[in-house]
Amino acid sequence: MSNDSSPRSVSVDSQKNDCLLPPPRGGLKFSILSSGSGGNSVYIEANGKRILIDAGLSEKKLSQRMTHIDRSLNGLDAVFATHEHSDHIRGMGPLLRKHQVPLYTTEGTYKRACHSLGKLPGFNPIRAGQPVEFGELVVEPYGTPHDAEESVAFVIHYRGLRLGLATDLGKVTTEVKNKLQNLDALLIESNHDVEMLDAGPYPWVTKRRIKSDVGHLSNEACGEMLSSVKHSGLRLVVLMHMSGTNNHPELARITARQALGQDTPEMIIAEQNHPTPLIPLNGLKG
Ligand SMILES: [Zn+2]
Ligand SMILES: [Zn+2]
Repeated sequence: MSNDSSPRSVSVDSQKNDCLLPPPRGGLKFSILSSGSGGNSVYIEANGKRILIDAGLSEKKLSQRMTHIDRSLNGLDAVFATHEHSDHIRGMGPLLRKHQVPLYTTEGTYKRACHSLGKLPGFNPIRAGQPVEFGELVVEPYGTPHDAEESVAFVIHYRGLRLGLATDLGKVTTEVKNKLQNLDALLIESNHDVEMLDAGPYPWVTKRRIKSDVGHLSNEACGEMLSSVKHSGLRLVVLMHMSGTNNHPELARITARQALGQDTPEMIIAEQNHPTPLIPLNGLKG
């Protein structure tokens, strides 16, 4: 019996498909339900397939945020976890059990997270470089430099559209840059302003961790990434995982705009306490 929700590895052409595809009915849409050290979660849907990446808020709060975008947690096909830090898995176990959804994450993340997750309805191991397919929605994990076990981020593919997620990484590596080429939209970490972090209230050891090669991207590092992946087809940049203590949205926005130059795509800042609207990727101006 076939089950097109089950994962299978596929090869993904990293080049953008320039064929004139018909506009997808109910094309790829996404919402950042929450972003920041208080909890992270991104909802993505395409052609009837529906996934969540991370569940860093309680099931109740995530459920409320889904209601806000006129959606529900019921009937999700999969929930992915990028890594085991609590701001990404805080609500994961109860959510998976209540809605009977399988978890997709690396063996390393599962090993570190399994005690706090509890008994799960299903676990599907994933690996960097091995895409997972849900119908035409393809989720491609790639490795990230972060102080977690086998952490990953994702590029989402759907009918030639490419949505990149890049949060919780300490530096801009060549591998990450390569993965984030030719995107239609990029959800990228702009965690802190270095001067604000240095002058701020965090203990020295925490400051050192955040600034390390396995910590979080500063506004400047985010700008470096944007400079190296910008292209005429990039239509949306979402600044993510922004610190409420060590950053200011306008500082992050100015740095990102400078890096993107003249043809700045649409830009929004994901918030900790409110979900973004459901954003149709194919409906963005381009
Ligand atoms: Zn995080
Ligand atoms: Zn983290």
